[in-house]
Amino acid sequence: MNGGMEILAKVDAANTQTEEITNHCREAPVVIVGAGPVGLLLALLLARKNVHSIVIEKGDGVDTSPRGLLHYPPVLEVFKTAGIYDTVVEHGFCMAGNSWRKPLADDGNGNNLLGERIAKLQTCELRTNGTYPEGQFCVGFVQSKLVALLLEEVNRTKLAQVLFDTTLVDIDQDAAGVNVTIESAGKPEVLRTQYLAGCDGGKSTVRKLLGIQFSGFSWPERLIATDVRRVVSSVDPNPAYFVVDPVHWGVVVPLEKITPGEPGLWRYAMAVADPSITDAAAEDDDYVEQLLLKYIDGPRPSTHTTVRKRVYRIHQLLASTMHRGRVVLAGDAAHLNNPIAGLGLCTGLLDVDILAQALHAILNEQYHDPQDLLAEYSAVRRYVFQTFVNPQSAANKLRLHENEPDRAAEEDWYFRALRRADPTEMMKIHGPLFVNWKTDLQRLMKTQPTPGHEVLLTSIEETADTVSSGAAVRSVGILAQ
Ligand SMILES: Cc1cc2nc3c(=O)[nH]c(=O)nc-3n(C[C@H](O)[C@H](O)[C@H](O)COP(=O)(O)OP(=O)(O)OC[C@H]3O[C@@H](n4cnc5c(N)ncnc54)[C@H](O)[C@@H]3O)c2cc1C
Repeated sequence: MNGGMEILAKVDAANTQTEEITNHCREAPVVIVGAGPVGLLLALLLARKNVHSIVIEKGDGVDTSPRGLLHYPPVLEVFKTAGIYDTVVEHGFCMAGNSWRKPLADDGNGNNLLGERIAKLQTCELRTNGTYPEGQFCVGFVQSKLVALLLEEVNRTKLAQVLFDTTLVDIDQDAAGVNVTIESAGKPEVLRTQYLAGCDGGKSTVRKLLGIQFSGFSWPERLIATDVRRVVSSVDPNPAYFVVDPVHWGVVVPLEKITPGEPGLWRYAMAVADPSITDAAAEDDDYVEQLLLKYIDGPRPSTHTTVRKRVYRIHQLLASTMHRGRVVLAGDAAHLNNPIAGLGLCTGLLDVDILAQALHAILNEQYHDPQDLLAEYSAVRRYVFQTFVNPQSAANKLRLHENEPDRAAEEDWYFRALRRADPTEMMKIHGPLFVNWKTDLQRLMKTQPTPGHEVLLTSIEETADTVSSGAAVRSVGILAQ
C-alpha cells in the first residue's frame, strides 16, 4: 500500500468517530464551518496553539474529487508550523519547474508526440543528494490526501472536533459572541462561540448569511478535471506542462511520483470551450475519451484508464470583506480564481496561516483591538488577492488560449522572458507574489495600528523595496505568472 492510500484508509476510521459534541469542545472559542483543506488547516493550526475548535461539515466525509494539488514554498512553510511537512514531502512529489507546450504532434506512424516545448521554467537544479534547495521547489500532494492527513492530525490533537453530516443554517452575533445554528439529521442545535470562521467554499452559506458581496466574473469556458492512469516510457524531471491552444488548452501534471514503465496517475485538466455542451454531456464517457485523445501522447489506441472526472466552472471573484464582527471568511468562501497554476488552494491555506495567529492573539488578549486586527486580516488578504492572485491567475489562463501556439514563443512577453532565463528578470516577475502571499501578522501587530491602514501600507512599501532590491526573495515562482 502506498503512503497516500494508507492516509486515506486511516481517514475512514477517523470519520467514524462519535458525532456527540464533547464537553471541552462545546466550550470551543472558535467554530469553523467547512472541513475542506482550509477549515481543517485552521483547526490544526489553532490546536497547535492550544486553541479548541469545532468544525462543522455538511458532507459525510472529506471530499475525494479531483481538485487542487500543488503546494508552493510559502505554504510548505505553513505545513512545517502545522507539523505535516515531512509527511507531505514524503508522500508527495517535488517539482522545480514546468513547461508550456504546443498541442500533440502526429509523427505520421500513428504515434502522437508530446507537443513541442514553447518555454520552460526551471526554478533550481536537483542537488547531488537528490533534493532541491529549500524554498525553491513545489510539492504535488493531492487535495484529497491533504484533507485526509489534516483530518487525521486534527483528530489526534483532541483539541478540535469535526462534526460530519452537520450543516450550518444560521448565524446570530452580538458584542460578546456568536450563536451558530447547526442541523444534523433534521435536528437543529445552537452552539455559542466567540468567533466563527466561514471556510465553507465558493457557495459559502456564511458569506451569504452576512450579506457580503462576491464580485468579479465567471469565465465562459469550463474545465474538466480527469485523473488518468497510464504508463509512460520516459519522464521529464519536471513533467508538468500547460497546453497552449485556442480551443484545446489545458494542464497536464502527474499526481504521484512517476516511474517509467509502470502505471502512474496523471491529471489532465482540459478546456470545455463550447458553451452549448451541458455539464452532464461534458462528463459523458465518449466525450471525455475523445477529448483525452487530443492531450494524451503515445501510440493509438491509447491504453490509459480514466479513474475519475469532474467538470467545473471557473471564476475570478472576491468577497467585499473577509470580516464582519466576530465572523471571518477564508479560502474559497472569500475568493475564487481559475486553477491554472494552482494559486487558489495555496491562497486559502495562507489565509488561515495568519488567521490562526490573529485568533490566537485575540483570545490571549495580546492585541489591544480585536476588531481592528480582524479588519487588518481582511484588508491584507483582500489586497493579496486583488493585487497579485487575481490578475496573475487570469493572465495564466489567458496565456494558454489567446496565443497562437506557433507564434507564442516570440509574441508572448512571459514566454520571451522565460526563454531569456535571466534570474534577475525572473525575480522581478515572480518576486512580488511570493513576498506578499504569506502574511506576517506579528510584524503588523508590533506597530499597534491606529485607524486606517497605515501599517499595512508601510508593510507593502517595505515589501516593494525588498523585491526591487532583489533581496530576501528565496521563493521563486513555479507556474506562478
Ligand atoms: C474541480 C475542481 C478542481 C480544482 N483544481 C484546483 C487546482 O488544480 N489547483 C488549485 O489550487 N485549486 C483547485 N481547485 C480549487 C481548490 O479545490 C479550492 O481552492 C479548495 O478546495 C478551497 O478549499 P476550501 O476549504 O476553502 O473550500 P472547499 O474545499 O470547497 O471546502 C468547503 C467545505 O465546506 C463544506 N460546507 C459548505 N457549506 C456548508 C454548510 N452550510 N455547513 C457545513 N459545511 C459546509 C463543504 O461541504 C466543503 O467540504 C479546484 C476546485 C475544483 C472544484
